[in-house]
Amino acid sequence: MDDKYCPTCPGNKPQRFRPATKKELEYVAAHGGGKDTPSFWRCGNDGCLWVQPYFNRSKGFSLPESFR
Ligand SMILES: [Zn+2]
Repeated sequence: MDDKYCPTCPGNKPQRFRPATKKELEYVAAHGGGKDTPSFWRCGNDGCLWVQPYFNRSKGFSLPESFR
């Protein structure tokens, strides 16, 4: 777990991120993750759907509700 800023969580404070699971990575790969797919991490905040490449927040996006 690493602390990172999450653009969709309330409050401007770091959240605990964790590496994306296999299922999450499959979704990322199918939705434009491209060569960045293996580097995706997910916000570990309860109920948060944000995923992003570890070093590139601008390429992140929110997973669908089914991942909540
Ligand atoms: Zn979050």
